[in-house]
Amino acid sequence: MRTMERLFQIAIDGPAAAGKSTVAKIVARHLGFVYIDTGAMYRSLTYKALKSGTDINDGPQLKKLLDETDIVLKHAEDGQKVIVDGKDVSERIRRADVTAHVSQVSSFGEVRSEMVHRQRRLAENGDVVMDGRDIGTHVLPKAQVKIFLKASVDERAIRRFREEEKKGLSPSLQALKKAIALRDKQDMERTVSPLVKAEDAIELDTTSLSIEEVVGRILQIVKERRAC
Ligand code: C5P
Repeated sequence: MRTMERLFQIAIDGPAAAGKSTVAKIVARHLGFVYIDTGAMYRSLTYKALKSGTDINDGPQLKKLLDETDIVLKHAEDGQKVIVDGKDVSERIRRADVTAHVSQVSSFGEVRSEMVHRQRRLAENGDVVMDGRDIGTHVLPKAQVKIFLKASVDERAIRRFREEEKKGLSPSLQALKKAIALRDKQDMERTVSPLVKAEDAIELDTTSLSIEEVVGRILQIVKERRAC
């Protein structure tokens, strides 16, 4: 294990569908860092709760379920595979039922503290790019680079719409917009570690930027910080 002082950490936070994971994966690949998708961990627990019939309004029950759940983020050529109790759920956890309930599951303090504990452990062994909602404010408060990505709800809904179309689905733009706005509201209004920009985070509005432009800006920021 390397000492914490020598590790380089990049925290990328922001609202739903702002392009965090797409950008984080590319930045990690460029720099040879490990990419950690914390949303996938909350999605994994939500998937398991729905599958097992656990009450998603019961924090202690969800925490108990989490204690019995093995979540592995496996690094693959194309980014990351999510393995829950030995099963690849990478695609499954992106479906609408999980997306609709994940904010509720992630609102409980007992769930969040266990997740944060696991996330910090994952970041102990090397340089990381971690994305989520509370990375810069809570999980990795000493990250050398903190980015807060945002984009208009319209733009984010269009991006999701295109992604879903590519997967062969027939999404409704209005429904996507509504779901994204609702998830933002829940994530911003929860009492424990709400979605908020860290004071020392650099805000990037990606509404009219391409993925390459966002990646380029982040790499430039990293270069400047590393030179310091
Ligand atoms: O990033 P993604 O959209 O996959 O995250 C799914 C959900 O997980 C978020 O809407 C939020 O409720 C929760 N989450 C969180 N804290 C994180 C990452 C995700 O509360 N660090």
